[in-house]
Amino acid sequence: SRDEVTYFGAGPALLPTSVLEKAAQALVNYNNTGLGLAEHSHRSEIANTIINEAKADLAAFLDIPDDYDILFMSAGGTGQFSSTAYNLVGTWVANRRRRIFGTPREEGDGKPAEMQQLHDAVENDLKMDYIITGSWSAKAAAEAARLYGQDHVNVAADARLVNNGKFGIIPDESTWKLSEDAALVYFCANETVDGVEFQDFPQRLLPKPNGEGPIVVADMSSNILSRKIPVKNFSVIFFGAQKNLGPAGITVVIIKKNLIAPVSEQPSAAMMRHLGLAIPPIILQYDSIAKNNSLYNTLSIFDVYIAGQVLKKLLDTYPDKVSGQEAVAKQKADLIYGALDAHPDVYRVVPDKSVRSRMNICFRVTKGGDFEAAEKDFFAQAAARGLTGLKGHRSVGGARASNYNSISLEGAQKLAQFITDFAKAS
Ligand code: PMP
Repeated sequence: SRDEVTYFGAGPALLPTSVLEKAAQALVNYNNTGLGLAEHSHRSEIANTIINEAKADLAAFLDIPDDYDILFMSAGGTGQFSSTAYNLVGTWVANRRRRIFGTPREEGDGKPAEMQQLHDAVENDLKMDYIITGSWSAKAAAEAARLYGQDHVNVAADARLVNNGKFGIIPDESTWKLSEDAALVYFCANETVDGVEFQDFPQRLLPKPNGEGPIVVADMSSNILSRKIPVKNFSVIFFGAQKNLGPAGITVVIIKKNLIAPVSEQPSAAMMRHLGLAIPPIILQYDSIAKNNSLYNTLSIFDVYIAGQVLKKLLDTYPDKVSGQEAVAKQKADLIYGALDAHPDVYRVVPDKSVRSRMNICFRVTKGGDFEAAEKDFFAQAAARGLTGLKGHRSVGGARASNYNSISLEGAQKLAQFITDFAKAS
């Protein structure tokens, strides 16, 4: 039964049983309407209420300021690799055009000298900066290069270049090669595969006292809702729901409202084509989603409902909101790392101590020298105790315990105890 298993998978991840039971009921007959939630129209008042409550609860839990909007989108974290590049390149071009033309598009467009200047600006100055600290930020940078060409992607830092070809550290900020006026500076707050987490907001990306600063984009797919974040320092935060929030299928974008360029201010498709730049498919365009309260097209309201119920449960459980969850996340991570560190002859934590993720605890079982054989034994014995989902990502192997919000303190204790017992039996 569910009670006998603690599942440490990296995503999809465990969801609270009480939420699933309520959702199961809602799937069949929502609030005695005679229809289940997956059947109700996304244009209904029910759908709007569910979306608005989920937005309000997320804003309350994370303390999101009023000048940010919350969007529910599809296409996962991967969709946002494209979406962030597409939208913020559009914003960059709009800003440059305003600077060069000094006039609305209609007047400015035709002048060949101005167009040439804009062309040159795009060719020479359009850069997207990526801080690569693991396989997900590497994928995001690769997608930006696929869409706009490698010349427009500036790898401001790459952990592999200073760590013998491997992830596992965050390059010192002083070495980051940031561009002037980048369309975006991108980092992944928690690298799910490599177990590397930013412990603080990067100092070099802080806004200036006048509020101006770089356009900072963060992928928080695997650590959202687990630590307090200074939302005002970010331009865009995105995350797939399937780890700390809800089921796979919805992706949440928290975006500073003044970055959602209205269509009237965006460069036209024709101009972007003229400049040799790609434009977003409408479904990845923030403006179309924002204007329609995330209902530009058919959204899975059932998925939003589950996410909303998880948020209500979090708000009920933690009077001090995300700070309460943060304390528990740390306590659980400390237990598991503590057990691993106590037996250096049997385990080796993969990333450097200074950047260890609280969410994805990546380690090797080194006992006997044949890691793979030792890990096979480790997984089998763990499963016998109901501890499952511990295999590392297929690209890196090893073991990974994903310590998301729905892993209870008892679940973490059980794993720590097993880690200790397995080592002692060696
Ligand atoms: N970013 C991170 C940090 C992830 O962990 C993942 C998925 N595990 C993704 C992006 C991609 O998300 P999706 O599968 O929703 O496209």
